[in-house]
Amino acid sequence: MTTIDKVYINGEFVTPHGTQRFDLISPVTNQKTGEAVLGDEVDTQNAIAAAKDAYKTFSKTTKEERISYLEKLRAIVSRREKDLTNVMVEEYGGTFQFCSMVSQNMVSDFSAMIDVLKNFDFEQTVGNSKVYLQPVGVVGIIIPWNMSNGFIVTKLSTAIAAGCTVVVKPSEMSTQQTQIIAECFHEAGLPKGVINFVNGLGDVVGAELTGNTNVSKIAFTGSTAVGKIIAKGAVDSMKRVTLELGGKSPNVILDDANLQEAIPTAIFAAYLNSGQACAAATRLLVPESKLEEVNAIAKAVIQNIKVGNPKDVDTVVGPMVNKKQYERVQDYIRIGQQEGATLLVGGEGKPEGLEDGNYVKATIFTNVKNDMRIAQEEIFGPVLSIIPYKDEEDAIAIANDTSYGLAAYVSSASKERAYHVASQIDAGRICINGISHDSKAPFGGFKQSGIGREYGIFGLEEYLEPKAILE
Ligand code: NAD
Repeated sequence: MTTIDKVYINGEFVTPHGTQRFDLISPVTNQKTGEAVLGDEVDTQNAIAAAKDAYKTFSKTTKEERISYLEKLRAIVSRREKDLTNVMVEEYGGTFQFCSMVSQNMVSDFSAMIDVLKNFDFEQTVGNSKVYLQPVGVVGIIIPWNMSNGFIVTKLSTAIAAGCTVVVKPSEMSTQQTQIIAECFHEAGLPKGVINFVNGLGDVVGAELTGNTNVSKIAFTGSTAVGKIIAKGAVDSMKRVTLELGGKSPNVILDDANLQEAIPTAIFAAYLNSGQACAAATRLLVPESKLEEVNAIAKAVIQNIKVGNPKDVDTVVGPMVNKKQYERVQDYIRIGQQEGATLLVGGEGKPEGLEDGNYVKATIFTNVKNDMRIAQEEIFGPVLSIIPYKDEEDAIAIANDTSYGLAAYVSSASKERAYHVASQIDAGRICINGISHDSKAPFGGFKQSGIGREYGIFGLEEYLEPKAILE
């Protein structure tokens, strides 16, 4: 049995003031594997006080000192890459394939931020004035359960680069992941209080961070619903907020695309992190004249997609994080059928032989209309909607006909055509002919997918307050 019974405050792993216990449940077996003790308001206040105190000196460090901390962290995270991958697989059932990629990206995130920092000038001349870019202050970082450590590293590397101090509140469902990443940050020897981790519930630890006047900014990743609660809570103290929220990303297959390549890639992009990814390409837009061909290829591809134990290296779709998420996905599969979409593969229930875990059948609906709920709402599971379109203009209109705008994908034989279409889609990150990651390119949402950007120089500026001094 695993026990997580510490929070990390002021440079030490300490017993929390909070006493509430949270069961750790394996998504593969639904058996209890341990318990976590959660922090409360008092732990959060202690962590904020430590961060506020540390800010006095950390905000004055040189960028060379902060680069050296980031280099240490990169080396430690790189050495512990396997532990970081394995704990994600165990804790939330992320597939080994996907979690390995997340761990590699953590290392590249540090490298990218080190590079950005080396070339960044915190004192600039603008017109006749001097502009000083000052760290924003104490930052509250609130994180979801899916690939939790990846988000922690993206935000923390940027906060450290800027000279901010931080209190991290991970999801109550990622306490085991947090333990390992906190150990990495502890080992890096940052001054006491610069980084603090308080496990706990959203309406306890998260609400305290949002309301506390000693916190200058909240950097949040999670659902649009909770993002709105945080934005409202931050107004009173005029906190800065960056919100990385949900998505319903379109994947536009243009009529000149090689379908034998584009469709398998599209299914992989839809099933990213077993569909539990904000940037999953869950709406596949195909020319109506090619719908039958696409359906046939998709059906064939699904035969080779392994749904199963996330530890197996060839598994593409693992279990849902918990029973609640499993039930939510089942509801949407029923809704899709009631709405009149054609169930191409998959459907309700668990795949044969996987009855113990929270497994969902890899599911594809075709002939989906974009106003159906399965095309508009974030399902967060392995459910893909194939939507036919008439022409390029229609494809762009459908792609943009959503309240979200996080990611998009375009496939074409012509790069020029793909860029032309991409330029007309309202989304923060658009990948052409496949899935890619760039730790320097901005990431974030249009519309209800969020406010602000992460990564690289755009991300760094979100942690800085410009101050102009005029003569
Ligand atoms: P969630 O919104 O339920 O929870 C996210 C975090 O907010 C958790 O730590 C939770 O405890 C906390 N929280 C909950 N209520 C709160 C409150 N009242 N005040 C402060 N904090 C509170 O999200 P989840 O279920 O953990 O994650 C899935 C969601 O996250 C999906 O909607 C997904 O699209 C989104 N997401 C977005 C991105 C992105 O980069 N845009 C990345 C991953 C996940």
